[in-house]
Amino acid sequence: MKPISTAASAMPRSGIRVILDLAVQIPDAIHLEIGQPDFPTPPHIVEAAHQAMLQGFTKYTPNAGLASLREAIAVKVSRENGIPATAENIVVTTGGMGGLFSSAAAVLDPGDEVLVPDPGYPNYEMMAMLCRARAVRYPLSDLAGGFQPLLDALPGLVTPRTKAIIVNSPSNPTGSVLPAATLAALLEFAQRHDLYLISDECYEKIIFDAPHVSPAALGDDGRVLTAFSFSKTYAMTGWRVGYVVASPELARTMVKLQEATVACASSISQKAAEAALAGPQDCVAAMAQAYARRRDLVIELLRSHGLPTYTPQGAFYFLIDIGRRGVPSEPFARDLLTGQKLAVAPGSTFGPRGDRYIRISTASSEEVLREGVGRLCRFIDRLSSTTTSTSTSTST
Ligand code: PLP
Repeated sequence: MKPISTAASAMPRSGIRVILDLAVQIPDAIHLEIGQPDFPTPPHIVEAAHQAMLQGFTKYTPNAGLASLREAIAVKVSRENGIPATAENIVVTTGGMGGLFSSAAAVLDPGDEVLVPDPGYPNYEMMAMLCRARAVRYPLSDLAGGFQPLLDALPGLVTPRTKAIIVNSPSNPTGSVLPAATLAALLEFAQRHDLYLISDECYEKIIFDAPHVSPAALGDDGRVLTAFSFSKTYAMTGWRVGYVVASPELARTMVKLQEATVACASSISQKAAEAALAGPQDCVAAMAQAYARRRDLVIELLRSHGLPTYTPQGAFYFLIDIGRRGVPSEPFARDLLTGQKLAVAPGSTFGPRGDRYIRISTASSEEVLREGVGRLCRFIDRLSSTTTSTSTSTST
């Protein structure tokens, strides 16, 4: 038999999945590794989907999505994100992932390079690999620097093959939010080097102290593709619906790609998405406030334990520094799971600069977070005392 696709087999397995597979075998394990809202989808959105099904709205839609939904999205991004748009700029996608993959596939050729954040969302590299392109990581500062892009490092990473840069704010895994000045500098960098800028704004509404800014609102000349999602904003991860805002030419290219891959986003989910946009938004604010309270709780718990901390300004993730324990993040996460029955994401899965951290998700109740962070602190204490006694015995 001929070998299976090298690109598919070379794609690394997610480190989060490895921990999850182990954790499901431990019945009373606490799960802080998974990144999805613990809230149910608001009932008016569920009801809209129910009605769509009852009315037989169960067929394919146009590849680009329902015209009415695209129009509603164009109004939303113009008004809320400051991105001037009409329906021809909008492609409804199968979640943010579908939008990010179609964006990557629309601009990348085999052998191209795409700049991705380190630490950053692992799917960016996977998507580049599926396009036979290469992800080149650009560094974010460390915990003390609030995980911001090190802008001075960017020009040195550009080669004649560099085609695009991916920017993610609010960020998974750091929770950091990029200020307007940084986004303007990234857009200017993309313009100077003639790169596409793919902006992942799937967490745009989970934002705490700083405003969310879209690079496409800062003087885009048609090179920005912005991916949004209903998944996190409305607790709709399973509905698989999102959208991309791009120039009409790029949007048309993505629509063509959708025909080849998914045809369209689910018709029922698109009806639900319409209801989400048209309906009350207090559910969005309430969820964001809950994530903010949980973030504050985690900061307090870590501080009271003397662990270094920072203030994520969005999303529902927290990187915790384990660098001083001298153990790489994957064995740390495995031992934490077996020793304390706590599942966390190893930072290495987000890139080499992530290896001194583990990521916890704050998309869990305050009670679960208290217990989970308590177990983590106990584990770190034991590890520190073992390290101290080992180094003491070695030195004597
Ligand atoms: N972008 C980031 C940074 C994410 O963390 C995720 C999901 O976890 C997505 C995009 C895509 O999510 P979805 O496809 O559910 O919209």
